[in-house]
Amino acid sequence: MDNATETANPVVIDLVDSRGDIKSVHYDVQSNIMKWSSGGLLSLDRVGRKYQKTQQPWEHQRQFTITPSSPGHKHGPFQLVKIQLGLKCNFQCGYCAQQDGRDHSSSSMVPVRKNANRENVAGFVAGLRSWLNPAQEIRFELWGGEPFVYWSDFKPLAESLLDIYPQARVGTVTNGSLINKQIADWILTHDRVDVTISHDGPGRHRTDDVLNNHYVHELFHRLLESRRSLRFNCVLTSDNLSIVDIRHYLARRLSTSYINIVLLTEGLATPANQNVVAPSLADLSIVFEELIAGKSLFAFGEEIQDFFSMLQTSKPAVCIGHKCGLDRPDAVVVNLNTQNIVTCQNTLPVGRHLLGHVSDLPGPVLNTVWHWRSRDNCIKCPVLAFCRGGCLYLENDEFSKACLFQFYYRLPFLCAAVFFITGLIPIRLVSWMGDIDLSSMTQSCRENLEKGN
Ligand code: SF4
Ligand code: SF4
Repeated sequence: MDNATETANPVVIDLVDSRGDIKSVHYDVQSNIMKWSSGGLLSLDRVGRKYQKTQQPWEHQRQFTITPSSPGHKHGPFQLVKIQLGLKCNFQCGYCAQQDGRDHSSSSMVPVRKNANRENVAGFVAGLRSWLNPAQEIRFELWGGEPFVYWSDFKPLAESLLDIYPQARVGTVTNGSLINKQIADWILTHDRVDVTISHDGPGRHRTDDVLNNHYVHELFHRLLESRRSLRFNCVLTSDNLSIVDIRHYLARRLSTSYINIVLLTEGLATPANQNVVAPSLADLSIVFEELIAGKSLFAFGEEIQDFFSMLQTSKPAVCIGHKCGLDRPDAVVVNLNTQNIVTCQNTLPVGRHLLGHVSDLPGPVLNTVWHWRSRDNCIKCPVLAFCRGGCLYLENDEFSKACLFQFYYRLPFLCAAVFFITGLIPIRLVSWMGDIDLSSMTQSCRENLEKGN
């Protein structure tokens, strides 16, 4: 039987009102339907929604159950092209997902490369048209390690991409420390380039704060003047879970208004090493509180609204796309130097993650990943709509540990969504993960509700 059509017991969420009366909601994860235990559908009036049928049959969005024995394919036409420059980085963040691929013999201060790897860049660019149509709208992402370590490759490559693909945008995520006058000026003169700085605000996972780099300061303000953004992306850790505090920190250090900070997050750090500690439900109360107070909706509002849409249309879970989308046939990761196709920007073109060569397109087989539909726990998971299956290529203990982190991290999102819909505070959740007392996460909000705040 198709795994995803197996029935699982509905998730039960107990909610409490200001008088202490308890009501239960039954959440059918497979069909995204929430009902009161008495049987009636939850009203979506409080979140401005009405139940509706979709025009398009869901069948078109049904996800493929990709696994190593039932592989996917990379055939395009590509909408997302991630180009892996290399994994060298001048920082060593404790939670970095790329640690396994890194050359640990290199010093922590990797210099900016002065000489371009001209043949590799030229060879890569020369072959592009054979597998990427210049008329297409494509999002290119240039990935390190730290991408500006590879500035001598980055610049000619990005310029060629912008030139050949007039509708394309080129994005990169950098730690910002190597941004100098030359790099800042280049970013300013290329308005189809989007730069995001990884920064965890007051989080202490690096020795240096890149906001001490005055070129970053200046770049931020000059982009702002020209109505562009220098965006920030944070990773949350158990000791740094307030995205509101992170945004305030960035605004203060950049001498600007809070409202000018465009801050995204890739969520909770995955347990890449022993230093990454799982947050407790009490730690996660800050995430729940900021959500229901509306303070963190600048970053999380879209995910909450997406969940409302799923409920509104009873979107079958089998139509929920995987978290990062690298299972898709129209998304590809290519190594610049070898032109090999790899699983993810964090995996090198060696061993099992080497999927093929661009000259094999269309065709390389994606046999290194596990779509959430193939993972038994994901199929019945109450936070599937928010987590969307975690990392595609992790296996065994690594996946189990990452999944546990994600499960708890995503509970505040599910609980906040239920609060928005019902006005009641979740206090207990029963699912495949057992019977979880949510009160340490939601207690202070419950007290506020009882006081009428
Ligand atoms: S929390 Fe775990 S089981 Fe749930 S969707 Fe994420 S990876 Fe799958
Ligand atoms: S496979 Fe997807 S989720 Fe996993 S590290 Fe790569 S981009 Fe992230």
